[in-house]
Amino acid sequence: MHQGGHAAFIFSEAFMEYDFGPLHPLRPERLRLLRERLQADGVLDSPHVRLVEAQPATEEEVLAVHTREYYDAVAALSSGHRVVKREEYGFGGLDNLPFPGMLEASLLYTGASLQAARLVSRGEVPRAMNPAGGLHHAMPGRASGFCIFNDPAVAIADLLRRHERVLYLDIDAHHGDGVQAVFYESPRVLTLSLHESGRTLFPGTGSPEEIGTGAGEGYSVNAPLMAGTGDDTFLRVFDALVPPLVEWFNPEVIVAQLGIDTHHADPLAHLRLTTAGFLRAVRSIRDWGRPLVALGGGGYNPDVVGDAWARAFACLAEVDLPAAPAEEPPAMPSFYGDPAAVEAFADKTIEAVRRNIFVRHGI
Ligand SMILES: [Zn+2]
Repeated sequence: MHQGGHAAFIFSEAFMEYDFGPLHPLRPERLRLLRERLQADGVLDSPHVRLVEAQPATEEEVLAVHTREYYDAVAALSSGHRVVKREEYGFGGLDNLPFPGMLEASLLYTGASLQAARLVSRGEVPRAMNPAGGLHHAMPGRASGFCIFNDPAVAIADLLRRHERVLYLDIDAHHGDGVQAVFYESPRVLTLSLHESGRTLFPGTGSPEEIGTGAGEGYSVNAPLMAGTGDDTFLRVFDALVPPLVEWFNPEVIVAQLGIDTHHADPLAHLRLTTAGFLRAVRSIRDWGRPLVALGGGGYNPDVVGDAWARAFACLAEVDLPAAPAEEPPAMPSFYGDPAAVEAFADKTIEAVRRNIFVRHGI
């Protein structure tokens, strides 16, 4: 039987149930737009593509990363029960407002990341994407930054049962703090996050001085970028730091979080990438030729998300689409600083990562 293709796309209409309400910036319709775009462009009909219906994770799978107390709190809030001290579990504010059915919705996007990881791990497809995943801020015992379960960490924990080394590469505008925290002491997971500096953006962490501890020292890598950073600078930092680390670490599987809140039209972050710049990074990741689990993540302009992730998935599936139209990001607002400051900040980041990480490993 022809197993089909270069890439699997994990999807479910029920992904749209992960919804904090109409006033929340995380809009589920971005995934519907993505699905429609892939359909309209014929990507899902390509013999290169395998469409897989998402299945929920089990409680046991989630507990590989999250605490029993937290899981029980999510379950209770999901079914409308009161939870004493719910703020301790990250559900105190408006960012993560509990909603009915949030346990089931969270199990579904987490299960989809596990499916993507297992398809790739077993060699059934070289690449698989779960656009509803990439919820990288969730901590073992608390929700954070619109993330309830940390599906990248759950998928990586599963991959570690069959693989020695997994690279987690995060190009979302926000620091991948939750995934970093889960594997901070492990030399088997190299976490590598490029993000807007914590000085100007949630969650405030992700300095190049955060390098891991114990046996994991040198296996957490952080490359902060200044507000106002655009394609050229982003890609300059990416090219200077990421390929040498991939070659040195030699991962058996790559889990890539492809948040597109780096885009200049994103309402939450302050970077200035275009879709073409984002896709240049995605193409690089594909062209390393390693088994790849691609996850979604941030992205708060639904039209940008639908377009950029459709193009990203087409790239992973090696289906040709017309090139992304040229975009001219608006001029950098002066309160961000000036372009020279953006460059100098990037230089400092490259230098710090080389000093803290490359030197340590002899790269
Ligand atoms: Zn983000």
